[in-house]
Amino acid sequence: MSALDEILKLKFGYDAFRPLQREIMDEALAGRDVFALLPTGGGKSLCFQLPAIVRPGLTLVVSPLIALMKDQVDALQASGIPATYLNSSLGAEESRRRLNSLHQGDYKLLYVAPERLLLESWEDKLQSWNIHLIAIDEAHCISEWGHDFRPEYRKLARLRQLLPEAPVMALTATATDRVREDIIHHLKLRQPKRFIASFNRPNLSYRVIPKNKPLQQILDFVKKREHESGIIYCASRKGTESLAESLADRGIRAKPYHAGLSNEERSRHQEGFLRDEIRVICATVAFGMGINKPNVRYVIHHDLPKNLEGYYQETGRAGRDALPSDCLLLFSAGDVAKQMHFIDELSDAEEQQKARTQLQQMLHYAESSACRRVDLLGYFGEGWTQVPCGACDNCLSPRDSYDGTVPAQKLLSCVFRIRRAGGFGVGLNHVVEVLTGANTEKIRRWKHDQLSTYGIGSELHRNEWLSIGRELLRLGYLSLAPGQHHVLTLTPAGLAVLKEGNPFT
Ligand code: ADP
Ligand code: ZN
Repeated sequence: MSALDEILKLKFGYDAFRPLQREIMDEALAGRDVFALLPTGGGKSLCFQLPAIVRPGLTLVVSPLIALMKDQVDALQASGIPATYLNSSLGAEESRRRLNSLHQGDYKLLYVAPERLLLESWEDKLQSWNIHLIAIDEAHCISEWGHDFRPEYRKLARLRQLLPEAPVMALTATATDRVREDIIHHLKLRQPKRFIASFNRPNLSYRVIPKNKPLQQILDFVKKREHESGIIYCASRKGTESLAESLADRGIRAKPYHAGLSNEERSRHQEGFLRDEIRVICATVAFGMGINKPNVRYVIHHDLPKNLEGYYQETGRAGRDALPSDCLLLFSAGDVAKQMHFIDELSDAEEQQKARTQLQQMLHYAESSACRRVDLLGYFGEGWTQVPCGACDNCLSPRDSYDGTVPAQKLLSCVFRIRRAGGFGVGLNHVVEVLTGANTEKIRRWKHDQLSTYGIGSELHRNEWLSIGRELLRLGYLSLAPGQHHVLTLTPAGLAVLKEGNPFT
């Protein structure tokens, strides 16, 4: 692992760089100017925060977003990185205190808004603070052709004169060719390397299949690729071991990899995989960081990943050699329930909320009938418009959709009646039990067997009802009541389906 990888993990808690982050940092660390265009959410901040730690002296960060400075600085401080900001929100006393610390060289990063920076009284200060890197965030603000022109950005060129030694990094998420040239011109960047990121991996194809007999499904897939290398991610250590064993029993050279193995075993399996002696690695997410094997032809997820970020990173280990490679996700409602259960056990409410949102996004991806690229890249703020993309299941074989108006109405009216009868909401499982006419203790206790919707859904299997319910959630006809776990409520759109009989496919 390189020093940058180590700091990434240690200070920021991330396992891998996102596209171009590392290349951008390398330029800055070599003392050269850089132009970086990354989608929103692409991780621009890290591009200057990490070099700021590594480089001597102070990194000056110019940002127009005063409201965000405090958040970023708080986050840095929480990771033990000395950072501060100066803007109009601070009182005179506090500003003076921070300036003093700056004079003493106490900080690695200083965030400032452009208008303050270019006051004449600041010029001497800037020159005395040992500034070794300048990062200009939202650099498109410098261009009249951008959507957010700020005249004060034009004055930033002065920084070049004041601090001729410090390399400048310009970052933005939105820049047409014209705006790009404007930025480079007005900031007087010196032959900057330009990094323009798309998160798209054109050689990867994405597929999600319902998980019913996972071992058989994986065998069918792997057998067709016997002389190719692949990674199969599992949620648990035990899962990796039993899967590797089952595959090995059927003649496939597979080994497990997880943090519970001895160092010796782990590196033996990893080395064997790198040398193509082992074909399949069954791994927990502990595997992959810092491993650069170009010819991984497929990545299978045996279990539902916790979030799209991880899914993107893990699938990204396929096809580094740019040859066509496959990403397969086995998806089951049972995995969702398991994760919900884990999330319920978390003690930190904020963490719980975050995990729930992430699971929801993951679920949306897995159940969507839209192009996988649109969903995946959309997560990173990149609008993907070339649909069909030609390399995802939904584009290659659009799913059959059917008129689901009647089942949708049944389910929605069941939610409606349960709430009206008891004045309280229930979860999807219970709604499905009422629909299918189950005889449970709760149904008897709450007298839900007396509702007119009791048993009206016996024509469909419980799993079909659950998937209709999730689809209704996904499409916004139902929502999960805030603050309460998994309690369904009807949205206005859902009420409209009920009242006006709007069709639902
Ligand atoms: P941008 O400014 O490009 O919109 P940010 O710098 O705010 O993006 O980063 C977006 C999110 O991605 C943040 O939550 C950040 O912590 C996270 N992030 C950045 N780099 C990585 C990485 N290498 N691995 C995982 N998460 C990352
Ligand atoms: Zn597609």
